[in-house]
Amino acid sequence: MSALTDLGVAAIRDGVAAGDFKAREVAEAYIANVEQGRALNAFVVETPEHALAAADAADAARVSGDLKPLSGVPLGIKDLFCTKGVQTTAGSKMLEGYKPVYESTVSGNLLAAGAGMLGKLNMDEFAMGSSNETSAFGNVLSPWRRNDGGNVALTPGGSSGGSATAVSARLAPGVTGTDTGGSIRQPAAFTGITGIKPTYGRCSRYGMVAFASSLDQAGPMARDVRDCAILLEAMAGFDPKDSTSLQLDVPKWEANLAADVRGKKVGIPNEYRIDGVPAEIDAVWEQGIGWLRDAGAEIVEVSLPHTKYALPAYYIIAPAEASSNLARYDGVRYGLRVQPEQGGLQDMYEATRAAGFGPEVKRRIMIGTYVLSAGFYDAYFNQAQKVRALIARDFDNAWTKCDLLLTPTAPSAAFGLGEKMSDPLAMYLNDVFAVPASLAGLPAISVPAGLDGQGLPLGLQIIGKALDEQSVLNAALAFEERAGFTHRAEAWW
Ligand code: GLN
Repeated sequence: MSALTDLGVAAIRDGVAAGDFKAREVAEAYIANVEQGRALNAFVVETPEHALAAADAADAARVSGDLKPLSGVPLGIKDLFCTKGVQTTAGSKMLEGYKPVYESTVSGNLLAAGAGMLGKLNMDEFAMGSSNETSAFGNVLSPWRRNDGGNVALTPGGSSGGSATAVSARLAPGVTGTDTGGSIRQPAAFTGITGIKPTYGRCSRYGMVAFASSLDQAGPMARDVRDCAILLEAMAGFDPKDSTSLQLDVPKWEANLAADVRGKKVGIPNEYRIDGVPAEIDAVWEQGIGWLRDAGAEIVEVSLPHTKYALPAYYIIAPAEASSNLARYDGVRYGLRVQPEQGGLQDMYEATRAAGFGPEVKRRIMIGTYVLSAGFYDAYFNQAQKVRALIARDFDNAWTKCDLLLTPTAPSAAFGLGEKMSDPLAMYLNDVFAVPASLAGLPAISVPAGLDGQGLPLGLQIIGKALDEQSVLNAALAFEERAGFTHRAEAWW
Protein backbone atom coordinates (compact mmCIF):
# COMPACT_ATOMS: atom_id res chain seq x y z
CA MET A 1 0.00 0.00 0.00
CA SER A 2 1.27 3.40 -0.94
CA ALA A 3 1.68 5.99 1.79
CA LEU A 4 -0.38 8.34 -0.35
CA THR A 5 -3.47 6.33 0.50
CA ASP A 6 -2.87 7.13 4.15
CA LEU A 7 -3.85 10.67 3.26
CA GLY A 8 -7.40 11.85 3.73
CA VAL A 9 -9.30 14.59 1.95
CA ALA A 10 -7.72 17.63 3.65
CA ALA A 11 -4.19 16.24 3.41
CA ILE A 12 -4.57 15.46 -0.30
CA ARG A 13 -6.07 18.84 -1.08
CA ASP A 14 -3.34 20.67 0.84
CA GLY A 15 -0.50 18.49 -0.45
CA VAL A 16 -1.56 18.94 -4.07
CA ALA A 17 -1.85 22.70 -3.55
CA ALA A 18 1.60 22.82 -1.92
CA GLY A 19 3.13 20.72 -4.69
CA ASP A 20 4.21 17.98 -2.26
CA PHE A 21 2.92 15.38 -4.72
CA LYS A 22 0.90 15.25 -7.89
CA ALA A 23 -2.83 14.61 -7.95
CA ARG A 24 -2.08 11.97 -10.58
CA GLU A 25 0.08 10.04 -8.09
CA VAL A 26 -2.71 10.13 -5.52
CA ALA A 27 -5.28 8.91 -8.03
CA GLU A 28 -2.97 6.11 -9.18
CA ALA A 29 -2.35 5.02 -5.58
CA TYR A 30 -6.05 4.87 -4.80
CA ILE A 31 -6.84 3.11 -8.06
CA ALA A 32 -4.27 0.47 -7.12
CA ASN A 33 -5.97 0.03 -3.74
CA VAL A 34 -9.38 -0.28 -5.41
CA GLU A 35 -7.98 -3.08 -7.57
CA GLN A 36 -6.34 -4.82 -4.63
CA GLY A 37 -9.55 -4.51 -2.64
CA ARG A 38 -11.87 -6.20 -5.14
CA ALA A 39 -12.50 -9.11 -2.79
CA LEU A 40 -14.38 -6.66 -0.54
CA ASN A 41 -16.92 -6.02 -3.35
CA ALA A 42 -17.23 -2.35 -2.40
CA PHE A 43 -17.55 -1.09 -5.97
CA VAL A 44 -20.22 -2.00 -8.51
CA VAL A 45 -18.35 -0.10 -11.24
CA GLU A 46 -14.79 1.23 -11.23
CA THR A 47 -14.09 4.42 -13.17
CA PRO A 48 -10.31 4.91 -13.02
CA GLU A 49 -10.40 7.01 -16.19
CA HIS A 50 -12.63 9.57 -14.44
CA ALA A 51 -10.33 9.77 -11.44
CA LEU A 52 -7.24 10.15 -13.62
CA ALA A 53 -8.79 12.84 -15.83
CA ALA A 54 -9.79 14.88 -12.76
CA ALA A 55 -6.29 14.40 -11.32
CA ASP A 56 -4.66 15.66 -14.50
CA ALA A 57 -7.01 18.64 -14.47
CA ALA A 58 -5.99 19.32 -10.86
CA ASP A 59 -2.29 19.16 -11.71
CA ALA A 60 -2.84 21.58 -14.57
CA ALA A 61 -4.91 23.85 -12.31
CA ARG A 62 -2.07 24.02 -9.81
CA VAL A 63 0.25 25.29 -12.54
CA SER A 64 -2.28 27.86 -13.78
CA GLY A 65 -3.34 28.87 -10.26
CA ASP A 66 -6.93 27.68 -10.69
CA LEU A 67 -7.21 25.10 -7.90
CA LYS A 68 -10.72 24.34 -6.68
CA PRO A 69 -11.80 23.20 -3.18
CA LEU A 70 -11.47 19.49 -3.99
CA SER A 71 -8.85 19.55 -6.75
CA GLY A 72 -6.93 16.29 -6.72
CA VAL A 73 -9.26 14.44 -4.33
CA PRO A 74 -10.55 11.11 -5.70
CA LEU A 75 -13.89 10.01 -4.25
CA GLY A 76 -16.23 7.04 -4.35
CA ILE A 77 -19.88 7.75 -5.18
CA LYS A 78 -22.68 5.63 -3.74
CA ASP A 79 -24.56 3.92 -6.55
CA LEU A 80 -27.75 5.73 -5.57
CA PHE A 81 -26.52 8.94 -7.26
CA CYS A 82 -27.14 9.29 -10.97
CA THR A 83 -23.84 9.79 -12.73
CA LYS A 84 -23.95 10.92 -16.34
CA GLY A 85 -23.00 8.11 -18.71
CA VAL A 86 -21.90 5.83 -15.86
CA GLN A 87 -24.07 2.88 -14.81
CA THR A 88 -26.27 3.69 -11.82
CA THR A 89 -28.02 0.69 -10.30
CA ALA A 90 -29.17 1.62 -6.77
CA GLY A 91 -28.02 -1.92 -5.97
CA SER A 92 -30.90 -3.37 -7.99
CA LYS A 93 -31.23 -5.68 -10.96
CA MET A 94 -34.06 -3.37 -11.97
CA LEU A 95 -31.53 -0.72 -13.01
CA GLU A 96 -28.72 -2.95 -14.23
CA GLY A 97 -27.16 -1.30 -17.27
CA TYR A 98 -28.97 2.01 -16.68
CA LYS A 99 -26.74 4.90 -17.72
CA PRO A 100 -28.29 8.21 -16.70
CA VAL A 101 -28.21 11.05 -19.19
CA TYR A 102 -27.69 13.53 -16.37
CA GLU A 103 -25.68 14.02 -13.18
CA SER A 104 -27.17 14.19 -9.69
CA THR A 105 -26.73 17.59 -8.08
CA VAL A 106 -24.65 16.21 -5.20
CA SER A 107 -22.18 14.25 -7.34
CA GLY A 108 -22.16 17.14 -9.84
CA ASN A 109 -21.28 19.57 -7.05
CA LEU A 110 -18.37 17.37 -5.98
CA LEU A 111 -17.06 17.02 -9.53
CA ALA A 112 -17.46 20.76 -10.13
CA ALA A 113 -15.36 21.32 -6.99
CA GLY A 114 -12.54 19.39 -8.68
CA ALA A 115 -13.02 15.90 -7.21
CA GLY A 116 -12.50 12.79 -9.31
CA MET A 117 -14.66 9.68 -9.28
CA LEU A 118 -13.04 6.31 -8.51
CA GLY A 119 -16.26 4.42 -9.10
CA LYS A 120 -19.79 3.65 -7.94
CA LEU A 121 -20.19 2.05 -4.55
CA ASN A 122 -22.21 -1.04 -3.74
CA MET A 123 -25.23 -0.65 -1.48
CA ASP A 124 -28.38 -2.33 -0.25
CA GLU A 125 -31.03 -2.51 -2.97
CA PHE A 126 -32.70 0.92 -3.23
CA ALA A 127 -30.97 1.71 0.11
CA MET A 128 -33.24 -0.73 1.98
CA GLY A 129 -31.17 -2.61 4.50
CA SER A 130 -28.68 -2.41 7.32
CA SER A 131 -26.04 -4.87 6.17
CA ASN A 132 -25.53 -4.43 2.42
CA GLU A 133 -26.80 -7.98 1.97
CA THR A 134 -29.84 -6.96 -0.07
CA SER A 135 -27.67 -5.72 -2.98
CA ALA A 136 -28.30 -7.47 -6.29
CA PHE A 137 -24.54 -7.28 -6.86
CA GLY A 138 -23.51 -9.32 -3.85
CA ASN A 139 -22.82 -8.31 -0.29
CA VAL A 140 -19.93 -6.05 0.66
CA LEU A 141 -17.44 -7.36 3.22
CA SER A 142 -16.26 -5.30 6.12
CA PRO A 143 -12.47 -5.02 6.27
CA TRP A 144 -12.79 -5.66 10.02
CA ARG A 145 -12.68 -9.10 11.60
CA ARG A 146 -13.26 -10.24 15.13
CA ASN A 147 -10.09 -10.90 17.08
CA ASP A 148 -11.29 -14.33 18.28
CA GLY A 149 -9.56 -16.09 15.41
CA GLY A 150 -12.86 -17.39 14.07
CA ASN A 151 -12.63 -15.25 10.95
CA VAL A 152 -16.39 -14.73 10.67
CA ALA A 153 -17.06 -12.49 7.66
CA LEU A 154 -18.72 -9.31 8.91
CA THR A 155 -21.09 -6.90 7.24
CA PRO A 156 -20.01 -3.27 6.93
CA GLY A 157 -23.55 -2.21 7.85
CA GLY A 158 -25.89 -0.61 5.37
CA SER A 159 -27.25 0.69 3.25
CA SER A 160 -24.04 2.65 2.49
CA GLY A 161 -21.96 -0.51 3.00
CA GLY A 162 -19.73 -0.10 -0.04
CA SER A 163 -19.11 3.49 1.01
CA ALA A 164 -18.09 2.46 4.53
CA THR A 165 -15.79 -0.34 3.41
CA ALA A 166 -14.17 1.88 0.77
CA VAL A 167 -13.18 4.49 3.36
CA SER A 168 -12.27 2.04 6.09
CA ALA A 169 -10.11 -0.13 3.80
CA ARG A 170 -8.39 2.92 2.25
CA LEU A 171 -9.93 2.39 -1.20
CA ALA A 172 -11.01 6.07 -1.16
CA PRO A 173 -10.27 9.03 1.10
CA GLY A 174 -13.93 10.02 1.18
CA VAL A 175 -17.26 8.99 -0.31
CA THR A 176 -20.88 9.95 -0.58
CA GLY A 177 -23.48 8.11 1.44
CA THR A 178 -27.20 8.54 1.84
CA ASP A 179 -29.22 8.27 5.01
CA THR A 180 -32.95 7.63 5.15
CA GLY A 181 -32.98 5.97 8.57
CA GLY A 182 -29.34 5.59 9.51
CA SER A 183 -27.57 4.46 6.36
CA ILE A 184 -24.66 6.85 6.77
CA ARG A 185 -24.31 6.62 10.54
CA GLN A 186 -24.68 2.90 11.21
CA PRO A 187 -22.14 1.74 8.57
CA ALA A 188 -19.77 4.50 9.72
CA ALA A 189 -20.04 3.15 13.27
CA PHE A 190 -19.53 -0.47 12.11
CA THR A 191 -16.33 0.34 10.22
CA GLY A 192 -14.64 2.87 12.49
CA ILE A 193 -15.12 5.92 10.28
CA THR A 194 -17.04 9.21 10.50
CA GLY A 195 -20.26 10.07 8.66
CA ILE A 196 -22.71 12.92 8.91
CA LYS A 197 -26.32 13.18 7.82
CA PRO A 198 -27.05 16.91 7.50
CA THR A 199 -30.36 18.63 8.16
CA TYR A 200 -33.05 17.46 5.76
CA GLY A 201 -32.93 19.77 2.75
CA ARG A 202 -29.25 20.76 2.98
CA CYS A 203 -28.27 18.49 0.08
CA SER A 204 -30.32 18.29 -3.06
CA ARG A 205 -32.12 15.04 -3.76
CA TYR A 206 -32.13 15.75 -7.50
CA GLY A 207 -30.72 12.72 -9.27
CA MET A 208 -30.56 10.64 -6.10
CA VAL A 209 -32.66 7.52 -6.71
CA ALA A 210 -35.65 7.98 -4.40
CA PHE A 211 -36.39 5.62 -1.49
CA ALA A 212 -38.47 7.63 1.03
CA SER A 213 -38.45 11.22 -0.17
CA SER A 214 -39.37 12.90 3.13
CA LEU A 215 -36.38 11.21 4.82
CA ASP A 216 -33.67 10.74 2.17
CA GLN A 217 -30.58 12.89 2.71
CA ALA A 218 -27.11 12.73 1.19
CA GLY A 219 -24.01 13.16 3.31
CA PRO A 220 -20.29 12.43 3.39
CA MET A 221 -18.38 9.56 4.98
CA ALA A 222 -14.67 9.96 5.60
CA ARG A 223 -11.88 9.23 8.06
CA ASP A 224 -12.39 12.21 10.30
CA VAL A 225 -14.57 15.17 11.16
CA ARG A 226 -12.60 17.74 9.15
CA ASP A 227 -12.80 15.67 5.98
CA CYS A 228 -16.57 15.32 6.48
CA ALA A 229 -16.90 19.10 6.91
CA ILE A 230 -14.97 19.72 3.69
CA LEU A 231 -17.02 17.24 1.68
CA LEU A 232 -20.35 18.37 3.09
CA GLU A 233 -19.55 21.96 2.20
CA ALA A 234 -18.99 20.92 -1.41
CA MET A 235 -22.08 18.68 -1.59
CA ALA A 236 -24.66 20.96 0.03
CA GLY A 237 -26.49 23.97 -1.33
CA PHE A 238 -29.81 25.20 -2.65
CA ASP A 239 -31.00 23.53 -5.81
CA PRO A 240 -34.07 24.77 -7.65
CA LYS A 241 -34.45 21.26 -9.10
CA ASP A 242 -35.44 19.87 -5.68
CA SER A 243 -38.50 21.50 -4.12
CA THR A 244 -37.44 20.37 -0.63
CA SER A 245 -33.97 21.88 -0.97
CA LEU A 246 -33.37 24.65 1.56
CA GLN A 247 -32.85 28.10 0.11
CA LEU A 248 -29.86 28.92 2.30
CA ASP A 249 -26.20 29.65 1.76
CA VAL A 250 -23.79 26.89 2.66
CA PRO A 251 -22.01 27.78 5.92
CA LYS A 252 -18.20 27.74 6.09
CA TRP A 253 -18.16 24.60 8.19
CA GLU A 254 -14.47 23.89 7.74
CA ALA A 255 -13.25 27.43 8.42
CA ASN A 256 -15.35 27.57 11.59
CA LEU A 257 -14.34 24.13 12.80
CA ALA A 258 -13.12 24.28 16.40
CA ALA A 259 -12.82 21.47 18.93
CA ASP A 260 -14.88 23.49 21.32
CA VAL A 261 -17.95 22.56 23.35
CA ARG A 262 -17.42 25.07 26.17
CA GLY A 263 -20.73 26.51 27.24
CA LYS A 264 -22.69 23.86 25.32
CA LYS A 265 -25.20 21.67 27.04
CA VAL A 266 -25.14 18.07 25.90
CA GLY A 267 -28.28 16.07 26.61
CA ILE A 268 -28.26 12.37 27.41
CA PRO A 269 -31.67 10.98 26.48
CA ASN A 270 -32.97 8.54 29.05
CA GLU A 271 -35.04 6.59 26.56
CA TYR A 272 -31.92 5.57 24.62
CA ARG A 273 -30.92 3.34 27.54
CA ILE A 274 -32.71 0.26 26.26
CA ASP A 275 -32.61 -3.36 27.31
CA GLY A 276 -30.56 -5.79 25.33
CA VAL A 277 -27.81 -3.36 24.39
CA PRO A 278 -24.39 -4.84 25.19
CA ALA A 279 -22.74 -3.42 28.32
CA GLU A 280 -19.76 -2.41 26.20
CA ILE A 281 -21.91 0.08 24.32
CA ASP A 282 -23.10 1.63 27.56
CA ALA A 283 -19.49 1.77 28.72
CA VAL A 284 -18.30 3.55 25.60
CA TRP A 285 -21.25 5.94 25.91
CA GLU A 286 -20.20 6.75 29.50
CA GLN A 287 -16.67 7.33 28.30
CA GLY A 288 -17.92 9.65 25.55
CA ILE A 289 -19.96 11.61 28.09
CA GLY A 290 -16.77 12.01 30.11
CA TRP A 291 -14.82 13.26 27.09
CA LEU A 292 -17.35 15.95 26.27
CA ARG A 293 -17.52 16.95 29.93
CA ASP A 294 -13.70 17.22 30.00
CA ALA A 295 -13.91 19.37 26.89
CA GLY A 296 -16.08 21.84 28.76
CA ALA A 297 -19.64 20.75 27.96
CA GLU A 298 -22.32 20.64 30.62
CA ILE A 299 -24.02 17.24 30.66
CA VAL A 300 -27.77 17.14 31.31
CA GLU A 301 -30.29 14.30 31.41
CA VAL A 302 -33.17 14.79 28.98
CA SER A 303 -36.27 12.87 28.04
CA LEU A 304 -37.51 12.05 24.53
CA PRO A 305 -40.66 10.22 25.62
CA HIS A 306 -41.86 8.99 22.20
CA THR A 307 -38.56 7.36 21.23
CA LYS A 308 -39.97 3.84 21.44
CA TYR A 309 -42.49 4.63 18.70
CA ALA A 310 -39.86 5.92 16.27
CA LEU A 311 -38.87 2.57 14.80
CA PRO A 312 -42.45 1.35 14.14
CA ALA A 313 -43.37 4.76 12.69
CA TYR A 314 -40.31 4.72 10.44
CA TYR A 315 -41.12 1.22 9.20
CA ILE A 316 -44.55 2.44 8.14
CA ILE A 317 -43.60 5.81 6.64
CA ALA A 318 -40.48 4.66 4.77
CA PRO A 319 -42.18 1.67 3.07
CA ALA A 320 -45.24 3.81 2.26
CA GLU A 321 -43.13 6.36 0.45
CA ALA A 322 -41.02 3.62 -1.12
CA SER A 323 -44.06 1.81 -2.52
CA SER A 324 -45.09 5.02 -4.22
CA ASN A 325 -41.59 5.96 -5.44
CA LEU A 326 -40.88 2.48 -6.80
CA ALA A 327 -44.07 2.41 -8.86
CA ARG A 328 -42.03 4.06 -11.62
CA TYR A 329 -40.13 0.82 -12.31
CA ASP A 330 -42.68 -0.57 -14.71
CA GLY A 331 -40.47 -1.88 -17.48
CA VAL A 332 -41.47 1.02 -19.70
CA ARG A 333 -39.38 3.95 -18.57
CA TYR A 334 -36.21 2.60 -16.96
CA GLY A 335 -33.93 -0.37 -16.91
CA LEU A 336 -35.20 -3.92 -16.94
CA ARG A 337 -38.12 -5.14 -19.03
CA VAL A 338 -39.36 -8.71 -18.96
CA GLN A 339 -41.99 -9.43 -21.61
CA PRO A 340 -43.65 -12.82 -21.14
CA GLU A 341 -44.37 -14.63 -24.39
CA GLN A 342 -48.07 -14.71 -23.58
CA GLY A 343 -49.93 -11.73 -22.25
CA GLY A 344 -50.12 -7.97 -22.47
CA LEU A 345 -49.03 -4.85 -20.66
CA GLN A 346 -50.15 -5.92 -17.19
CA ASP A 347 -48.25 -9.18 -17.55
CA MET A 348 -45.16 -7.25 -18.61
CA TYR A 349 -45.40 -5.05 -15.48
CA GLU A 350 -45.76 -8.09 -13.26
CA ALA A 351 -42.99 -10.09 -14.85
CA THR A 352 -40.62 -7.10 -14.81
CA ARG A 353 -41.24 -6.28 -11.16
CA ALA A 354 -41.11 -9.94 -10.12
CA ALA A 355 -37.73 -10.36 -11.77
CA GLY A 356 -36.25 -6.94 -11.04
CA PHE A 357 -36.85 -6.47 -7.32
CA GLY A 358 -35.28 -8.52 -4.55
CA PRO A 359 -37.17 -9.93 -1.52
CA GLU A 360 -36.58 -6.99 0.86
CA VAL A 361 -37.77 -4.43 -1.71
CA LYS A 362 -40.87 -6.54 -2.41
CA ARG A 363 -41.56 -6.76 1.32
CA ARG A 364 -41.38 -2.97 1.63
CA ILE A 365 -43.63 -2.43 -1.40
CA MET A 366 -46.21 -4.80 0.08
CA ILE A 367 -46.09 -3.19 3.53
CA GLY A 368 -46.19 0.29 2.01
CA THR A 369 -49.12 -0.49 -0.26
CA TYR A 370 -50.99 -2.06 2.65
CA VAL A 371 -50.54 0.90 5.04
CA LEU A 372 -51.65 3.31 2.32
CA SER A 373 -54.70 1.28 1.29
CA ALA A 374 -58.12 2.87 1.84
CA GLY A 375 -59.08 0.51 4.67
CA PHE A 376 -55.86 0.90 6.67
CA TYR A 377 -54.61 4.39 5.88
CA ASP A 378 -55.98 5.94 9.07
CA ALA A 379 -54.91 3.06 11.27
CA TYR A 380 -51.30 2.96 10.04
CA PHE A 381 -50.01 5.73 7.80
CA ASN A 382 -51.90 8.57 9.46
CA GLN A 383 -51.03 7.32 12.93
CA ALA A 384 -47.37 7.07 11.98
CA GLN A 385 -47.42 10.64 10.68
CA LYS A 386 -48.85 11.80 14.00
CA VAL A 387 -46.15 9.89 15.86
CA ARG A 388 -43.58 11.54 13.62
CA ALA A 389 -44.85 14.95 14.72
CA LEU A 390 -44.62 13.90 18.38
CA ILE A 391 -41.06 12.74 17.90
CA ALA A 392 -40.12 16.08 16.33
CA ARG A 393 -41.80 17.80 19.28
CA ASP A 394 -39.77 15.68 21.73
CA PHE A 395 -36.60 17.08 20.18
CA ASP A 396 -37.98 20.63 20.26
CA ASN A 397 -38.63 20.20 23.99
CA ALA A 398 -35.15 18.78 24.52
CA TRP A 399 -33.65 21.86 22.83
CA THR A 400 -35.03 24.00 25.63
CA LYS A 401 -32.63 22.12 27.95
CA CYS A 402 -29.63 21.36 25.75
CA ASP A 403 -27.86 22.17 22.46
CA LEU A 404 -26.79 18.70 21.40
CA LEU A 405 -27.54 15.06 22.21
CA LEU A 406 -25.04 12.24 22.65
CA THR A 407 -26.24 8.67 22.08
CA PRO A 408 -24.91 5.36 20.75
CA THR A 409 -25.13 5.10 16.95
CA ALA A 410 -26.21 1.47 16.82
CA PRO A 411 -27.22 -1.13 19.41
CA SER A 412 -24.40 -3.52 18.43
CA ALA A 413 -21.04 -3.71 16.73
CA ALA A 414 -20.88 -5.15 13.19
CA PHE A 415 -22.64 -8.50 12.91
CA GLY A 416 -21.77 -11.51 10.80
CA LEU A 417 -22.96 -12.12 7.26
CA GLY A 418 -26.29 -13.93 7.26
CA GLU A 419 -26.83 -13.45 10.99
CA LYS A 420 -29.93 -11.31 10.62
CA MET A 421 -31.03 -11.94 7.05
CA SER A 422 -33.74 -14.43 7.97
CA ASP A 423 -35.21 -12.13 10.62
CA PRO A 424 -36.26 -8.75 9.20
CA LEU A 425 -37.33 -7.44 12.61
CA ALA A 426 -33.88 -8.12 14.09
CA MET A 427 -32.39 -6.30 11.12
CA TYR A 428 -34.76 -3.33 11.54
CA LEU A 429 -33.86 -3.09 15.25
CA ASN A 430 -30.39 -2.04 14.26
CA ASP A 431 -31.79 1.35 13.28
CA VAL A 432 -33.33 2.06 16.69
CA PHE A 433 -30.98 4.92 17.63
CA ALA A 434 -30.73 6.34 14.11
CA VAL A 435 -34.32 6.79 12.97
CA PRO A 436 -35.56 9.43 15.47
CA ALA A 437 -33.20 12.09 14.05
CA SER A 438 -34.24 11.03 10.54
CA LEU A 439 -37.94 11.41 11.30
CA ALA A 440 -37.24 14.88 12.74
CA GLY A 441 -34.92 15.86 9.88
CA LEU A 442 -32.07 16.75 12.25
CA PRO A 443 -28.32 16.71 11.58
CA ALA A 444 -26.52 13.77 13.19
CA ILE A 445 -22.98 12.45 13.00
CA SER A 446 -21.41 9.15 13.98
CA VAL A 447 -17.85 9.28 15.30
CA PRO A 448 -15.68 6.30 16.20
CA ALA A 449 -15.39 5.93 19.96
CA GLY A 450 -13.43 2.75 20.62
CA LEU A 451 -13.25 -1.00 20.10
CA ASP A 452 -15.33 -3.65 21.78
CA GLY A 453 -13.90 -6.79 23.39
CA GLN A 454 -13.82 -8.51 20.00
CA GLY A 455 -11.77 -5.73 18.49
CA LEU A 456 -14.62 -4.18 16.51
CA PRO A 457 -15.34 -0.44 16.24
CA LEU A 458 -18.15 1.21 18.17
CA GLY A 459 -19.51 4.64 17.28
CA LEU A 460 -21.37 7.34 19.13
CA GLN A 461 -23.89 9.70 17.62
CA ILE A 462 -24.15 13.45 18.15
CA ILE A 463 -27.51 14.94 17.15
CA GLY A 464 -27.99 18.70 16.76
CA LYS A 465 -30.68 21.27 16.14
CA ALA A 466 -31.93 21.79 12.60
CA LEU A 467 -29.33 23.71 10.56
CA ASP A 468 -26.78 23.59 13.39
CA GLU A 469 -24.29 21.29 11.67
CA GLN A 470 -21.53 23.57 12.97
CA SER A 471 -22.15 22.68 16.62
CA VAL A 472 -22.45 19.01 15.69
CA LEU A 473 -19.14 19.08 13.81
CA ASN A 474 -17.37 21.06 16.55
CA ALA A 475 -18.54 18.71 19.29
CA ALA A 476 -17.55 15.76 17.10
CA LEU A 477 -14.08 17.25 16.67
CA ALA A 478 -13.69 17.71 20.43
CA PHE A 479 -14.86 14.12 20.84
CA GLU A 480 -12.49 12.86 18.13
CA GLU A 481 -9.48 14.52 19.77
CA ARG A 482 -10.22 12.84 23.07
CA ALA A 483 -11.19 9.45 21.65
CA GLY A 484 -7.93 9.26 19.70
CA PHE A 485 -9.32 6.45 17.55
CA THR A 486 -6.47 5.41 15.25
CA HIS A 487 -7.33 1.73 14.89
CA ARG A 488 -7.41 0.25 11.41
CA ALA A 489 -8.51 -3.09 10.07
CA GLU A 490 -5.56 -5.29 9.26
CA ALA A 491 -5.33 -5.68 5.48
CA TRP A 492 -6.14 -9.35 4.71
CA TRP A 493 -7.78 -8.88 1.31
N1 GLN B 1 -31.73 0.42 7.56
C1 GLN B 1 -32.81 1.34 7.28
C2 GLN B 1 -33.74 0.75 6.28
O1 GLN B 1 -33.51 -0.35 5.89
C3 GLN B 1 -32.25 2.65 6.80
C4 GLN B 1 -31.85 2.64 5.39
C5 GLN B 1 -31.35 3.96 4.93
O2 GLN B 1 -31.07 4.86 5.73
N2 GLN B 1 -31.26 4.10 3.63
O3 GLN B 1 -34.68 1.34 5.88
